[in-house]
Amino acid sequence: MTRTDVAIVGGGIAGLTAAIYAAQAGKRVMVLEQQKQMGGRAATNQKEGMYFNLGGHALYKGEAYDAFKELGLRLEGSAPSVDAHGLWKNELRTMPMSVGSLFQTPLLSWKGKLELAKWLAKLGKADTSVWNRISVRDWIEGELRDPMLRNLFYALLRTASYVVAPELQSAGPVLKQLQHSLQGVLYVDRGWGTLVEQLRELAVQSGVTCVTGCKVVSVEHQNGKVQSILDEDGRSIEATHVIMAIPPSVAHKLVPHADRTALDTWVKQAIPVTAACLDVGLSRLPKPEHSFIYGLDLPVFLTNQSRSGKPRAAILSDNGAYSVCLLKYQGPQTDAKQDEQDLERVLDLAQPGWRDVLVARQYLPRMTVVHDFPHMKRVVNPGPAVPEIQGLYVAGDWASHGELLVDASVASAKRAVEHLVAAEHAITVTA
Ligand SMILES: Cc1cc2nc3c(=O)[nH]c(=O)nc-3n(C[C@H](O)[C@H](O)[C@H](O)COP(=O)(O)OP(=O)(O)OC[C@H]3O[C@@H](n4cnc5c(N)ncnc54)[C@H](O)[C@@H]3O)c2cc1C
Repeated sequence: MTRTDVAIVGGGIAGLTAAIYAAQAGKRVMVLEQQKQMGGRAATNQKEGMYFNLGGHALYKGEAYDAFKELGLRLEGSAPSVDAHGLWKNELRTMPMSVGSLFQTPLLSWKGKLELAKWLAKLGKADTSVWNRISVRDWIEGELRDPMLRNLFYALLRTASYVVAPELQSAGPVLKQLQHSLQGVLYVDRGWGTLVEQLRELAVQSGVTCVTGCKVVSVEHQNGKVQSILDEDGRSIEATHVIMAIPPSVAHKLVPHADRTALDTWVKQAIPVTAACLDVGLSRLPKPEHSFIYGLDLPVFLTNQSRSGKPRAAILSDNGAYSVCLLKYQGPQTDAKQDEQDLERVLDLAQPGWRDVLVARQYLPRMTVVHDFPHMKRVVNPGPAVPEIQGLYVAGDWASHGELLVDASVASAKRAVEHLVAAEHAITVTA
């Protein structure tokens, strides 16, 4: 049997971040990942010279960005230009994303334009936590008067979170994410796989043992204390602490008698968010000006992440081809074929003739973007500790305390490590 201080199940961004912080706190750490490579949903596929993330990804200036900077990662890429179009009644119209486009847009009346300008100024410095206990629907319908402005905000907030459940989603966290996006997002050169690789390298340099191809099947505990983890080949690793950086349903399955722990509440309250993702590499752009499209009457989004011009966005190919990502935000009912057709129709409108300049394509019909998010039916925020089992922790995009997307993965990973270090310190002081 192997022994370690901290065993981390799952080698996505949450698991790798937790591993680095735990190793930097002086712990012996092992990360166990079931796939052949680390990275989970932040992996990047290479195809015909293109770098395709698992659906369009943007790094917000939130908790993950700050932690990556703190860890010394090279964040290469750029912020895209904000020029955008809104898709409304099958036509593309200028979106009011800057002072110039606010004047030009045919989408809003003068009254609507004034109201938007007022809100953008107000939101920039607002304390969004005052809206944590109301839904996005109530916030939009209660705060905004202009009907078209409401449509714009539904689209902006959906894009910032991937959630299409305004009556369920808490307004505060997503308005905070909108604040982050007003500071500009980063499209990462050569995809998020470069972030994963840097995290993995840093983990190894910090002394972490990274094991791939290792599926954990059980997290053993006795007398209210974590003991060990067991993999599918029957190998056991004894550990003082275990951080489960995996989906909530998997965490629940791995822990014997999980139904008697907080894991049961966390898994029951979780509402997964999914999207259909179509990524295409195009040797040239039939309509370069159509690089950023928000669906206003359809839950879709298009972004050319490698657009040229000033500011230039990310390098996402080795051959100069453009990487255009389309997303359809999904509710509980989905139809993979219909979603693909809807996305192709948006591409036909934005980049007519795209099939003639196609270099590569990737269609992912139903990607889980996050396993849970801050919503009105949440009983409690998950983690960091599983209170009934000493030494057991959770991390991941679902273990959010108000953060969204990868910010929740990173913030929860940091919380788990801080908690285990503090708990150990408390035990030493008491002894
Ligand atoms: C289409 C799409 C678009 C997105 N866009 C954005 C964006 O623009 N901005 C943003 O901030 N975030 C975005 N995200 C979210 C972001 O990618 C995720 O939040 C983040 O990558 C999740 O990291 P994680 O470590 O929490 O989970 P994961 O990446 O899912 O990692 C969990 C890991 O655990 C492993 N595992 C599971 N079970 C076991 C087991 N039994 N034993 C061992 N290993 C196991 C899995 O293989 C996986 O590698 C997007 C996600 C998607 C899918």
